[in-house]
Amino acid sequence: MAKSTHPMKYIFVTGGVVSSLGKGLAAAALGTLLENRGLKVVLQKFDPYLNVDPGTMNPFQHGEVYVLDDGAETDLDLGHYERFTSSVLSRSNSTTSGQIYETVLSKERRGDYLGNTVQVIPHVTDEIKNRLRSLSKEQPCDILITEIGGTTGDIEGLPFLEAIRQFVLEVGPQNVVIMHVTLVPFIKAAGELKTKPSQQSIAKLREIGLQPQVLICRTEHPLEEDVRQKLSMFCNVPLEAVVEARDVDHSIYEMPLMLQREGLDEIVCELLHLDVPQAKMAEWIRFVDRVIHPKKRVKIAVVGKYIELQDAYKSIYESLTHAAAANDCGIDLVRIDAETLEDWNPETILKDVAGVLVPGGFGERGVEGKINATRFAREHKVPFLGLCLGMQVATIEFARNVCKLEGANSAEFDPEAQHSVIHLLEEQKDVTGKGASMRLGTWPTLIKEGTKARKVYGTNEIRERHRHRYEFNLAYREQLEAKGFVISGTSPDGTLVELIELQDHPYFLACQFHPEFQSKPNHPHPLFSGFIQASLANC
Ligand code: GLN
Repeated sequence: MAKSTHPMKYIFVTGGVVSSLGKGLAAAALGTLLENRGLKVVLQKFDPYLNVDPGTMNPFQHGEVYVLDDGAETDLDLGHYERFTSSVLSRSNSTTSGQIYETVLSKERRGDYLGNTVQVIPHVTDEIKNRLRSLSKEQPCDILITEIGGTTGDIEGLPFLEAIRQFVLEVGPQNVVIMHVTLVPFIKAAGELKTKPSQQSIAKLREIGLQPQVLICRTEHPLEEDVRQKLSMFCNVPLEAVVEARDVDHSIYEMPLMLQREGLDEIVCELLHLDVPQAKMAEWIRFVDRVIHPKKRVKIAVVGKYIELQDAYKSIYESLTHAAAANDCGIDLVRIDAETLEDWNPETILKDVAGVLVPGGFGERGVEGKINATRFAREHKVPFLGLCLGMQVATIEFARNVCKLEGANSAEFDPEAQHSVIHLLEEQKDVTGKGASMRLGTWPTLIKEGTKARKVYGTNEIRERHRHRYEFNLAYREQLEAKGFVISGTSPDGTLVELIELQDHPYFLACQFHPEFQSKPNHPHPLFSGFIQASLANC
């Protein structure tokens, strides 16, 4: 097969029938396969909602906010992209309708449209295509995979689909694959899988002028030949491009392997005229095997306030999985609603966990419960990992219960606190707007010699991602240090506390940043690995 001369190929991933089909995961898993064929892959997401970014959205509505190196606050699917491929993404990889409209409207105000009527077509669609082109230049690659958020048929998604239709004409259909992720439900009463919802969502795409070449069929049951035939015929997709994506049994990391078995990457490469070797998946298979068949198990409690939400602590759960696999163990996750710990009963709730993790968060709800969980971990020498708010909570707990600073608190929860051991960052004092207004993105931290953090990281300078408004109040440094509280990492100028730990404790580490955004399947984050190792030793 002749290799195309076109410098770049494009894959657009749309979704049909219902939301939460795992489009992001499918896009990321395809990314894994293509990358392991030796191709350079970049992923991006188009989100049709009008928020400028998900940074201001409630976790109940949107799950975790995933933070990139450059401080962009993005959708959690970008977390899948970074975990499933080696790409390091930037704010250019996450576009919302809010950003598109913001740009179009400011151009209109500047007079850039020279008095023309500003319309969805062509002005909004042009802006969408501009994003595609500028990303192609900024992050050159062999294949750019673009996931379109939402479901086909949503009004707000239409400009994106129209822009793609135009874009296909511009770059040539031989350089584009449209992959539609759809649901093939099993109807119990009929005892069969139904193809009609998929037919209808593809009809909707065709109305707009888009014909998908690949169907990813989410299903609970195997797709038998007759169902595949039906989908192929009614959806106008070759039979081999009807791909079964059954619910994975054990781990989302099985997804690339499952799609490979269905021949997805082969079909995509054929459609894009790419003559590249088979994907080398041996390392991935070894990782998945360790996830699925762990030699031992370890019970880890995560004490948070959005614990009932599947997606609120996504990157944390994934980081635990990576670290556990590296230690040949599986995680028995104990999700604890912090509010249930408010009346100091951690002895019963936490009694048989091997490690306690307190994640980040905003607002007062559940904080006292987190403080109690932290106290329990400190006093009972249970391995502890505190992330962002988790570090602030560890500081408050130590100040109150070890240093006897009564009423010690964060200014976030008690602006009148007698001892504001956590206070507002200087740069935050005049900030009034909410969007993108925190200390965000990657900043360096210097680690002190002789500390546990230094040992765990194996280096004295690290770069980690941040998202916070408050910080450790250095006025309390000596008082806390005098009692065994160790400031093991700070910003290079020493003004911001980034890492803390406790002496006389097997593993009590907390950080002001978010290590969970940099953990990868075969490269677990050192703080998580150290935490799991210590927890295993505590079993
Ligand atoms: N609410 C705290 C702050 O703004 C912690 C933030 C977080 O955990 N991401 O500093």
